[in-house]
Amino acid sequence: MPQRPRVIILSTGGTIAMIARGSDAGALRLGAKALAAAVPQLEAIADCETRDILAKPSASLTLADQALIGEAAVAAAQTADGVVITHGTDTLEETAFGLALLTRIETPIVLTAAMRRADQPGADGPANLLAAVRVAASKAARGAGVLVVIDDEIHAGPLIRKSHSFRTHAFSSAPFGPIGYVAEDRVRFALVPAAPPPLMRFGGGRPPIVPIVEAGPGLERETVAALAAGGFDGVILSLPGAGHVAAEAAPDLGRLAERMPVVFASRTGAGETLCASYAYAGSEIDLIARGLIPARWLDARKSRIALQLALAQGADLAQTRAIFDGF
Ligand code: ASP
Repeated sequence: MPQRPRVIILSTGGTIAMIARGSDAGALRLGAKALAAAVPQLEAIADCETRDILAKPSASLTLADQALIGEAAVAAAQTADGVVITHGTDTLEETAFGLALLTRIETPIVLTAAMRRADQPGADGPANLLAAVRVAASKAARGAGVLVVIDDEIHAGPLIRKSHSFRTHAFSSAPFGPIGYVAEDRVRFALVPAAPPPLMRFGGGRPPIVPIVEAGPGLERETVAALAAGGFDGVILSLPGAGHVAAEAAPDLGRLAERMPVVFASRTGAGETLCASYAYAGSEIDLIARGLIPARWLDARKSRIALQLALAQGADLAQTRAIFDGF
C-alpha cells in the first residue's frame, strides 16, 4: 500500500467540538482525537495525528490565540503534508485572515468548522472534517496558502466571511466565490488564489485595542470625541460606499488621525475603498488628505486584524500606511 500522506489535526474549540447534555445547551467536550475518531473514513485518506491547541468558543479567541494557532500550524507543518485546524464558525474569518498574514508555508493549512453541534441531527462537523483532511492531504493544495473547507467548498482564507447566522451553508467569499470543491474523494481547484497578503508577525504583549465604528448617514461629533477619549490604540471606520463620511465629522477624524491610526473600510461588503474619485468634504480624497488610511479591499473586520498586528509589531504611522498600501 502506498504511503499515506500525514495530516495533523489541531483543535481550537467551536461548535464542532460541542455537545449538549441535559439542560446545558452545548459545552466544549470534544478534543481533536474525539473529532477524528468520529470519522473512520479518515483512515483511508491520511495518517492523522491529533493535537489540542485551545478549547474556546471562537468569539473568545484573542489576537494572541490567533498567533498561537499560527505557530502550532507552522510547527505541525514541519512533520506533516497538511495541517487541519478545527475552529468555531463565528470568527473563523478573522483567524483565516490572521493566519494568512502570519504564515507563509507550502504545506496547506486548512481550517474547518461546523454549524451544528456533534449531537444535533445532521451534524456537519464530521463531513467538514473529512473534506478538510482530503484537501490538506492533496498535492493540489500545496502552495495555496490558508484555506477554509466547509460544506464541500474550498475557500481562500483571506476572502471568506460568515454570511449566515445558523444555516449549514453559512460561508461565502462573495463577490468572488469558492476557489474549489470536494466531490466524493476528489479535490478540485477551479481557481488559483491571488498572491498572499503581506507577511506580518505578532510582536507579543497586550493585544492592541482597536474598535470598529460603522457610520451611516451622519457621524456624530460625540462619537468621534468618545473615540479620541477612549484610550484606544487605533480605530477602524466602516464607511458607506467607497469610504465616505459626513462632512461635519471629517475635521475631527483628521485630528484623531494625528494621534492614532484611523483606517477606513467600505461597509458595502465588496469592492474596495476608492482613492481618487471624490473630493468633497468627507470623501475618500478628503479623508486621505487628513491622514486617514484607506483599507483598500479589506472589510472592517479584516482591517482590524491587520491594524492590531501592525500595532503589535510596533509599526509607526508611516509603516502602518505602507502595510495597508499592500492590500
Ligand atoms: N459559538 C460557536 C463558535 O465557537 C459557533 C460555531 O462554531 O458555529 O464560533
